[in-house]
Amino acid sequence: MRKTWMFPAFAALAVSCANPEPPVADEKPAESQKPNIIFIMTDDHAYQAISAYNDKLIETPNIDKLAHQGMLFQRGFVTNSICAPSRAVALTGKFSHVNGLKDNLDTFDSTQVTFPKLLQKEGYKTAVIGKWHLKTQPTGFDYWKVLPDQGQYYHPEFRTKNGMVKEQGYVTDVVTDISMQWLDSVRQGNQPFLLMYQHKAPHREWWPNLPDIEEFTSREFPEPATLFDDYKGRGRAAKETEMTIHTHMALSSDNKIHPDIVNKLGYKSFMNWYQRIHLEQYNRLSAEEKAQWDKYYGPINEDFEKLAPQGKELTKWKYQRYMQDYLGTIRSVDDNVGRLMAYLDSTGLAENTIVVYTSDQGFYLGEHGWFDKRFMYEESFRTPLIVRWPGKIKAGTVDDHLVQNLDFAPTFLDAAGIQVPEDMQGRSLLPVFAEKADDWRDALYYHYYEYPGFHMVKRHYGVRTDRYKLIHFYYDIDEWELYDLEKDPQEMQNQYDNPEYADVQEKLHLRLKELREQYHDNDSVTTAMLHADIERAKRKSIYSK
Ligand code: CA
Repeated sequence: MRKTWMFPAFAALAVSCANPEPPVADEKPAESQKPNIIFIMTDDHAYQAISAYNDKLIETPNIDKLAHQGMLFQRGFVTNSICAPSRAVALTGKFSHVNGLKDNLDTFDSTQVTFPKLLQKEGYKTAVIGKWHLKTQPTGFDYWKVLPDQGQYYHPEFRTKNGMVKEQGYVTDVVTDISMQWLDSVRQGNQPFLLMYQHKAPHREWWPNLPDIEEFTSREFPEPATLFDDYKGRGRAAKETEMTIHTHMALSSDNKIHPDIVNKLGYKSFMNWYQRIHLEQYNRLSAEEKAQWDKYYGPINEDFEKLAPQGKELTKWKYQRYMQDYLGTIRSVDDNVGRLMAYLDSTGLAENTIVVYTSDQGFYLGEHGWFDKRFMYEESFRTPLIVRWPGKIKAGTVDDHLVQNLDFAPTFLDAAGIQVPEDMQGRSLLPVFAEKADDWRDALYYHYYEYPGFHMVKRHYGVRTDRYKLIHFYYDIDEWELYDLEKDPQEMQNQYDNPEYADVQEKLHLRLKELREQYHDNDSVTTAMLHADIERAKRKSIYSK
């Protein structure tokens, strides 16, 4: 049976101030004393764009404050770096090959066990508000109001139990307003609550809130050292992916250049629908908002037309545009996190509420010349993770244990005093919170599947230890990559089959084999999933006729 971390009742805690007593191990917390949980998940928020991690790009004072009051994880990772699969892993505590949702085309089996369902069963009020992305209707929630698919930045529609509802305003503000309304409806009751407060931002196509555009369009950002990576030290996967800022970032929808200018200057418009997206987004704005938008982006369009940059200059120009808008959307996230935290303070909820800040994965901000995610390389494999829990986590702690989004479900159940199901594959982070995780994992497992598909990142799986990483790219390729993260933190030189790393390579292969056995992943599971993909593709082509 799994070890379950129990908490003393609040009365015992109060007494312990005057008369310290050890926690009563078999005492279950009463309903009203169980911690509330607010799970803040943004979409594609790179740790490089949170000033608690890196202050070169943006100041995020409200997110940083959570880190100053709680624990900042330096080694938070995902199991499969892409939107919907990451959310399914968080809900189930199981890898993609076990929960059945391995890529963004799959549909979530909502009949399976999730941590919100178990919390709800044990007396929690539960809600999910904002980004959902799992296609099926949310289950295990008393209340849900979610964006359809990727959702819209301006005046967004929401899926509700009673059909679609359109709201006025900027999506990050709207999601926060709805969340506070729901909190108002439950905070007076005796039941603890779980709120999954999930933002669309900063997901592509990075449309900032109108008042936030100017701050970022007037700035110039430092370029990453690997912006002009030539991929020489790596295999085909890095060379053949389609996620470079130079070629694959859309000048229209991503960089906000009017499609007429893109066409007039003869830039490669490899996907016409990106231009359509641009116009669809723009047309959601009111006449007054359009005028405001034009005030900022009009001069940028004029400059671009005059410059008509090519080659490296085009990459540099697009990188700046990318950062201006991507970071612009994060300004609103940080403001709204501040707004929600002020609400918790003013209502007295902060003290007994666990607040988690994370993203569904990391993101490339120009490193290796890329945007997007998917790879097991550090920028996308890692994700920001900050946890505040007054009285349980020492303020200002920085942690370097290898933790994964697989751990959320067991952690929340454990914190609520609920036994973690045997078949959940993550581990409770409570010992890490208490700085008593003496026997922690020494390696992480990863598996990515969405290929062929958007951005053409090849299927791969691998292991990461404290210092090394071994990756196997497969399907239409059979290549291994090995990185020494201490000597080569930017993963520029594959050391696989380098005799100097022969021992390391052998040990990593062994550890990978062990992890695949531990997590029930193997070649026959992978083959079965490939066949399922082929069948799915056949069905889609039938439907599309
Ligand atoms: Ca995402």
